[in-house]
Amino acid sequence: MSIMQLPPENPHEASFLLSVAEARALPRFPHKEVVFFGASNVGKSSLINAFCRRKNLAKTSKTPGRTQLLNFFWLPQKVILVDAPGYGFANIPDSVRQNWQDLLLDYLDDRQGKLQAYLLMDSRRWIRDHDMEIMKLLQIHNIPYVLVFTKLDKLSKIDQQDLQNRLQQQVASACPALVTSAKTKEGLEGLQKSILAWGSL
Ligand code: GDP
Repeated sequence: MSIMQLPPENPHEASFLLSVAEARALPRFPHKEVVFFGASNVGKSSLINAFCRRKNLAKTSKTPGRTQLLNFFWLPQKVILVDAPGYGFANIPDSVRQNWQDLLLDYLDDRQGKLQAYLLMDSRRWIRDHDMEIMKLLQIHNIPYVLVFTKLDKLSKIDQQDLQNRLQQQVASACPALVTSAKTKEGLEGLQKSILAWGSL
């Protein structure tokens, strides 16, 4: 495994570090890591960009050729952010899917104790089967995780309250959950606190 020179030139700004396609190319960092998972269109890039205050940062992960890679970013919180592109595998060849799964499993194996995951889901859609699958995978690998509900602004005030109640009743005892909107910036402070807390553990 390679060891990267860190912090980057400007440590006060979030920046793209590298994309990794296979386990043997995984870098090691002397920092904690957070990995963001989410089905495509859930609002992952928007949330990362809003959180990092960089307009097109996470667009990097959507560049053709990078959509099945782990994309590593430096955060000024001195934490490495990993964008794990969407789990909508309907239209990709089996070999690509297998390669991606192998990479993910090796990554999770390697990062125990160093990694916390953020599972993004659309506030309008609650937790879906593919989210449950990732949760199971994380539990098996002993990776702590936080649920992040996106696009909160798309819900009416009443539905926002319903979501909060449901989280309190069904999720709060199992894992932390955050509600966010990249559009209104609601919840970004909570995300910041969560990442800082993990980074300083
Ligand atoms: P990704 O595929 O998960 O990276 O999703 P994107 O960040 O590209 O967002 C998908 C779509 O949802 C885009 O049209 C965004 O403008 C929109 N979107 C993302 N976040 C929000 C949000 O917080 N509020 C609203 N209203 N729209 C959002």
